[in-house]
Amino acid sequence: MKNEISGRTRLSGLYALPARHSFSPLMHTTAFQTTGVDAVYLSFDVQPERLEQSIQAIRDLEMLGINLSMPHKMEATKYVDELSQAARLIGAINTIVNQNGKLVGHITDGIGCMESLKQNGIEIIGKRMTILGAGGAATAIITQAAIDGVKAIDVFNRKDAFYEKIEPKLAMIAKETHCQIHLHDLADEKQLSSSLAVSDLLVNATTIGMAPETEQSPLPKASLLRHDLPVFDVIYHPSETKLLKDAKEAGAKAINGLDMLLYQGAAAFKLWTGKEMPVEKIQPLLE
Ligand code: NAD
Repeated sequence: MKNEISGRTRLSGLYALPARHSFSPLMHTTAFQTTGVDAVYLSFDVQPERLEQSIQAIRDLEMLGINLSMPHKMEATKYVDELSQAARLIGAINTIVNQNGKLVGHITDGIGCMESLKQNGIEIIGKRMTILGAGGAATAIITQAAIDGVKAIDVFNRKDAFYEKIEPKLAMIAKETHCQIHLHDLADEKQLSSSLAVSDLLVNATTIGMAPETEQSPLPKASLLRHDLPVFDVIYHPSETKLLKDAKEAGAKAINGLDMLLYQGAAAFKLWTGKEMPVEKIQPLLE
């Protein structure tokens, strides 16, 4: 593995606030070094009022591209030249690619989830899924699943601000992708039970299961789970949520969000470099 900076070394990085806690610099710099790409990746704390100038700097400094995290994912869509289909439908980006001065915005979270499912042997294309949650992670997953050809998605969320906000977005995604998408109240146990009965996958994209709610499950009762219903939880800390424990007890496949994190990074890496991220080198760094 080479570790040299040259006059040609290109810059990439993360714009977020805070950004300095991120795993991405280690992930991408390791991937650059392993694949022989002459580039580095650094974290930048970007204040909201400096976002536009910071994005302009991608052009000025001929940067390879950038990742974006909170609180910039939505605002940044205004300052790029083009959006991918998923980014346009979601209204958020986490990756900018610098194509000779033209900035293209992408969102790779949903791609990361779909790739994680594939790598874990779960075939969901043409089938039905149920997802709990209507926030940022849920919207990215629903959109990518619909674009990739999942046949039907039942979305459950409590009746909060996320519920109201996602309703028109889901209608737009369904119209453009022809995926059958229906939104339900998470409190409607009867509907949840009938949706799960015909689903081939359950996804949790709520925050329930993270600290301090580590003993809670987003499902009202574990008996809704069954051995032939794989469960994917976006949460990776803790590595096994109550929902995943319950799924395992029911004899089902249970996958946490760590691979989603890995593959959303791999998708950004591919967009910048055209190369596959050497995931086998990165995976051990995540553990
Ligand atoms: P968000 O704030 O945008 O959405 C939160 C969601 O949780 C909403 O749907 C909200 O209604 C629901 N929720 C919160 N408290 C609830 C409660 N008590 N009862 C029922 N529903 C409740 O958050 P987000 O950015 O979508 O993140 C959600 C989770 O996904 C977080 O745990 C985050 O760490 C994780 N995440 C993982 C990855 C990954 O790569 N694995 C990527 C992004 C986010």
